[in-house]
Amino acid sequence: MFEINKNYLKLPGSYLFSTIAKKVSAYTEQHPEKTIIRLGIGDVTQPLAPAIIEALHQAVDEMAAAETFHGYAPDLGYEFLRSAIARHDYKARGCDIAIDEIFVSDGAKCDSGNIQEIFSLNNKIAVCDPVYPVYADTNVMAGRTGDYDASTERFEGVIYMACTEENDFAPEFPKETPDIIYLCFPNNPTGATIKKSELQKWVDYANANGAVIIYDAAYEAYISEDDVPHTIYECDGAKTCAIELKSFSKNAGFTGTRLGYTVIPKELKQDGVSLNALWARRHGTKYNGAPYIIQRAGEAVYSEAGNAQLKEQVAYYMKNAKTILEGLREAGYSVSGGVNAPYIWLKTPEGMTSWDFFDYLLENANVVGTPGSGFGPHGEGYFRLTAFGSYKNTLAALERIKKLA
Ligand SMILES: *Cc1c(COP(=O)(O)O)cnc(C)c1O
Repeated sequence: MFEINKNYLKLPGSYLFSTIAKKVSAYTEQHPEKTIIRLGIGDVTQPLAPAIIEALHQAVDEMAAAETFHGYAPDLGYEFLRSAIARHDYKARGCDIAIDEIFVSDGAKCDSGNIQEIFSLNNKIAVCDPVYPVYADTNVMAGRTGDYDASTERFEGVIYMACTEENDFAPEFPKETPDIIYLCFPNNPTGATIKKSELQKWVDYANANGAVIIYDAAYEAYISEDDVPHTIYECDGAKTCAIELKSFSKNAGFTGTRLGYTVIPKELKQDGVSLNALWARRHGTKYNGAPYIIQRAGEAVYSEAGNAQLKEQVAYYMKNAKTILEGLREAGYSVSGGVNAPYIWLKTPEGMTSWDFFDYLLENANVVGTPGSGFGPHGEGYFRLTAFGSYKNTLAALERIKKLA
């Protein structure tokens, strides 16, 4: 008789975005004449850049001829893509990452969920609070945590590192020493970043304590300030303690196309075993790589034309971010983020919870955002707005919000 994985039952029943969808559809049913503007989406909206489309077409044509057809992709990904990654994302930043330390995948969400498989269930994890829920949830499903405590909104056995106004939304070292530390900068949902000198302290902390850092750099392309690191390998000693996750989703519009990669340096070892070798095993046997066609599209991201076109896309979203930041400040709100990330983190007005503010904005401005409490207990009292909409809708939403003030 089979048994289910009961760890799945520890996850709370309703998912943040399904609750939002239900509330919005209930509202529009009652008010069919109203137009809703969504400033809550965590998905890009601009089409793939012309250089990427061209690479896709070319790769599709190659698949049509026996001489240029491609079957299974190599385990770690095609060398043309891993070389481009090593050159542009690392060497150009003074970081020495070899192509066999790069594992091409179908996205950072999958990798951030799967990476925990190479670690024992005895490890204690630490996550930022608030943060992207995938890190904690996948450790819950694996059985690395205790039950969910509804009164504290926390899983037992997980170290939550509070990211608050007081610490500029960057965590401090926890009281209890973790084994696996998840960091995400620029952060989803707060839009916060940390300076290179601060990240260096985390690298030193991990090396000193025998911990591993899993660093999610999905929003790296949005960094605009000079002292913010683009990769954790800019820090000394990171190769002996850090894994980095990257995605083509937010910088190049691949959310539906699917492409990402994970870096595991060969120096990263425990008990004489290289984590790079473990992940290579996993990658080879449960292959979640990307198709040839998509890897060619990824290569075009690094071409001169592709790079220029994508810089324009990022600038477009960041113009929205500026519009939201400035508009909300004019309307009297306290806001942060939005400078190195496409996310704006708003402090809800006195006496309003995250969900109160969600309802208030939906009913009075017909604008939809995301309640901060959905990203962790310290997200309560905050609200996430995203820069991924059209400029026209972003302007219109801000006009509506300003009118309420
Ligand atoms: C969007 C996002 C990703 C990207 O995931 P993909 O699977 O590559 O689309 C990864 N991490 C964070 C924090 C994100 O917000």
